[in-house]
Amino acid sequence: MDSDELREVAGGITEWARRVRELRNEEGYRILTHNDRNELKAGQYLLEDPKPIPAFERAISKETRAYVLDRNGFTCQMCGAVAGEPHPYDPARKTRLHLGHIIDKSQGGTDDPSNLRALCSVCNEGASNLTLDRPTSQKLLIQVRRARGIDQEEVLKWLLNKYPKRAKEILGEIED
Ligand SMILES: [Zn+2]
Repeated sequence: MDSDELREVAGGITEWARRVRELRNEEGYRILTHNDRNELKAGQYLLEDPKPIPAFERAISKETRAYVLDRNGFTCQMCGAVAGEPHPYDPARKTRLHLGHIIDKSQGGTDDPSNLRALCSVCNEGASNLTLDRPTSQKLLIQVRRARGIDQEEVLKWLLNKYPKRAKEILGEIED
């Protein structure tokens, strides 16, 4: 929708821009603008998801959110999708991360950072069928060994980027 259409739907009132802000900031609707997506022009809006962000997630402080996302390496803890990158199961979609509970609230889980983890919108909606079990290094290695060289290189780059200090140490040990 663009601003002219919104103005028309709103019956000529000029308060719609504020209402859009309210829906986004206070009611948790993800309404994107040209600041979020290049393909949107100024004055165009995109409702990314008809479901608002759950109240618990909006109640969590920016600091806690940043802390949990950083701790999880800005990576979905179920499928491994990385924030801002195309989603592996739906490449047309940029990966957006949410906070989810590790132990569900219905099972006595709390909103404490220790019980929170990063989940992408796909996993958060339960759309992926992956299990919660983390792969062991043995299983990972089997997958990596079977992958194409070009994909192995991607893994190498990603790991070097994630663990620069450790990479230097290991390379130092190899040279010694
Ligand atoms: Zn995911």
